[in-house]
Amino acid sequence: MNERDSEQVAQMLIARGHTITAEAEGADVVLLNTCSVRDLAEQKALGKMGMLRALSRNRPVIYGFLGCMAQSRGAALLREVPHLDLIVGTQKFHRVADYVDQAIERKWAARRDDIRFSVVDVEEEQDSQSTIRDHLLGDKQVTAFVSIMQGCNMHCTFCIVPYTRGHERSRPPAEIVKEVRALVARGVKEVTLLGQIVNLYGRHEFPSFDGKSPFVQLLDALQQTDGLERIRFTSPHPIGFRNDLIESFARLPKLVEHIHLPLQSGSNRVLKAMHRTYTAEKYISLVDRIRAVTPDVAITTDIIVGFPGESEQDYAKTRELVDRVGFDNAFVFKYSKRKGTPASQMEGQLPDSVKEERNQDLLELVNRWAKRRNEIFLGKTIEILCEGASKTNSDRLVGRTRGNKIVVFEGAREHTGNLLNVRIHRCTGYTLYGEPVSR
Ligand code: SF4
Repeated sequence: MNERDSEQVAQMLIARGHTITAEAEGADVVLLNTCSVRDLAEQKALGKMGMLRALSRNRPVIYGFLGCMAQSRGAALLREVPHLDLIVGTQKFHRVADYVDQAIERKWAARRDDIRFSVVDVEEEQDSQSTIRDHLLGDKQVTAFVSIMQGCNMHCTFCIVPYTRGHERSRPPAEIVKEVRALVARGVKEVTLLGQIVNLYGRHEFPSFDGKSPFVQLLDALQQTDGLERIRFTSPHPIGFRNDLIESFARLPKLVEHIHLPLQSGSNRVLKAMHRTYTAEKYISLVDRIRAVTPDVAITTDIIVGFPGESEQDYAKTRELVDRVGFDNAFVFKYSKRKGTPASQMEGQLPDSVKEERNQDLLELVNRWAKRRNEIFLGKTIEILCEGASKTNSDRLVGRTRGNKIVVFEGAREHTGNLLNVRIHRCTGYTLYGEPVSR
């Protein structure tokens, strides 16, 4: 979501005649879009902004923090980082280009930092969910993110998102369909629909119809888009993952076989304390129902270890559930206290050593499953969408399967942007390696 928001800001700046520099040293404007999900992310952003101050030694430079940390800390950031010119929250990305231009005018004239002139805008904005809609596509780019809603009303006790992103607001379906059609006209073949609880899209704004939720109705509409090959979405909440959505995977050929389904914990006691509103049994039953309809589906997840009060028995239940489901992959996080959230005030905060031990132990299990799930593809031919040169080895190409597995292979650059079949001959837990075969 942050990548998508940054893309919107960059697109608006470029439309005003700015250009993007490859190196920070060449920049007159430095904007850091920040994440608040864990404390480490905030510390990194603060450290980086501190280091970047050196750029302004010989010339005026505009500095800005955007996004979640800007939203949650607001003007207080000026005390920590006095060279900041802009602090722009999560509902105001569309105003950044205006603020940059104002700051440039003022700073070039005054040639000095003065926090009295810094812009702090973290107010709510009506319809901000509809302002993330412009795209900055690279050469032969075939995948794009599409933001369909903002905010979240679920109030999981560990999560800062409801405080940084506000309450749920969804875009009208017709606007989204128009945006996707425009992307396809520019060469995009795969879209990923974004929302904090994406499957609950539109629940406050639009009615269900014919037994289908607003989200499933949107998927139906996108299925009709000629030229679009693949539809993904992230991240759904297990609550609200109902039969209409499960059946869509069998019904809609463009909807790919990958679901990122956040679990967070396998212990009912911890799930309750997290306010996740489902049980481990319900989660497993959901996975079973999904697999009954779509046997080849890849399921990935998010898990937090070391939540306040998590006992050895609670952790053992998470481990057991991970082994029962056999995830294709998982993001495992050590619980990180977020100021203002209910969990940060709970008793039973665990020492980092315990969190680290559980983190390592669970990662080892997750990695074992990831390898096992990838080995299924050895010797098989699968369809991939080629995204271009591999970042680690420009002589190779990289693409993704419908199940979101990364495939690295040797082949001609002309494959970029195409669907093609690749025979897999080697794998790790993260990557499949293969060679193209004729389609
Ligand atoms: S559903 Fe996701 S975004 Fe919403 S509060 Fe829970 S963890 Fe945060």
